[in-house]
Amino acid sequence: MTAVNDLSQFWMPFTANRQYKASPRLLVGAQGMYFRSHDGREVLDGTAGLWCSNAGHGDPRIVGAIQRQAATLDFAPTFQMGHPLAFELSSRLTQLAPEGFEKVFFTNSGSESVDTALKIALAYHRACGNGTRTRLLGRERGYHGVGFGGISVGGIVGNRKQFGAMIAGVDHLRHTHDPARNAFTRGQPAYGVELAEDLERLVALHDASTIAAVIVEPIACSTGVLVPPVGYLQRLREICDKHGILLIFDEVITAFGRVGAAFAAERFGVTPDIITTAKGVTNGAVPMGAVLIRGGIYEAMCDGPENAIELAHGYTYSGHPLACAAGIATLDVYRDDQLFERSRGLEPLWEATLHALRDAPHVVDIRNFGLIGAIELAPRPGAPGTRAYDVFKACYEAGVLVRVTGDTIALSPPLIVEPAQIERIADTIRTELSHAD
Ligand code: PLP
Repeated sequence: MTAVNDLSQFWMPFTANRQYKASPRLLVGAQGMYFRSHDGREVLDGTAGLWCSNAGHGDPRIVGAIQRQAATLDFAPTFQMGHPLAFELSSRLTQLAPEGFEKVFFTNSGSESVDTALKIALAYHRACGNGTRTRLLGRERGYHGVGFGGISVGGIVGNRKQFGAMIAGVDHLRHTHDPARNAFTRGQPAYGVELAEDLERLVALHDASTIAAVIVEPIACSTGVLVPPVGYLQRLREICDKHGILLIFDEVITAFGRVGAAFAAERFGVTPDIITTAKGVTNGAVPMGAVLIRGGIYEAMCDGPENAIELAHGYTYSGHPLACAAGIATLDVYRDDQLFERSRGLEPLWEATLHALRDAPHVVDIRNFGLIGAIELAPRPGAPGTRAYDVFKACYEAGVLVRVTGDTIALSPPLIVEPAQIERIADTIRTELSHAD
């Protein structure tokens, strides 16, 4: 017999369910920079939820837009039908995007955005008469969500090993993490541009005529915050251009102000062909993803009759009215409160505060870019991940939410974070590191 609110039925995602349920942490409210826990405590959000609530929580402008939309048009199909907000949000996103982006395809998550982008790349080459270009290239340690496309191009072994052979014809660039040369770098590492030449190695191995696209996160966040070496993304772009390979930036985390600009593409000065987003597009308030596509790609699929569907792909909830309302309100908040500029302005303090933890116990590396940070700990011998997990739990008990991935503490506060709150996040981590064994 199960009880209502029994913890056992919810198979929690990416969670050690038995460990969690032995000592649960429940969030029951959120406002601004704080969550409220089930035991009535305020918890400072050092992670924007899960890298998504860039404008902080419960902004009345976003909440109101969702409420009004739910009462006006709760759902409308977007297959052979439309509603105004989906068109409006698409225009707003292309205005925000780097020059040349002309189309937006809506999804419900980052994983769906990635699979959509990969499909568009394949369909594009086929439409151009290059149907042999079917290979998709990812990068070791990349995270592109959990669809079969995403885990295939993704490079985190733990997310792949349970699921068989995945999609065929995928290969991976080497990752760019090089602590021997780059530990404690502030911002972009100086060493590693040559790792982009790995793309030439894969072209030499497979031939460009078989390769459709390469997908990378401009900053690989979920794998522990790996910032691209100076010149690396530029070089990837050059090699893709040389060989007719589409370049996809997975900006599910890095878009919408996280790196002090609308997109990491803008900040790094490298324009891909496709950008995948999710999370911050609605401030996390309603699930949504958006794939932004450069001009020419859609047009290549338009040579059939007018009644031909250009791309046989879409989701029931692509462009859901509530998500669109949340998205438009979110973009308004980002603009009106100048949150991208604010994030950029906080960077020097963020960087200095994080790097001041260099002498704290167990710290072996610190990485940062934009309002993203990573504090890597030495693993406990024979028990990788446990030290960082214990620090995460202790910080939560002390009223600060951080995130751990392996032995790295990852940080990404909402862009409304105040300097004193940055100090508090760092102080709490220092205190809990000093208690950690
Ligand atoms: N791509 C990147 C770069 C991500 O960081 C994530 C999630 O963190 C995803 C894709 C997957 O997004 P979702 O969990 O919304 O499917």
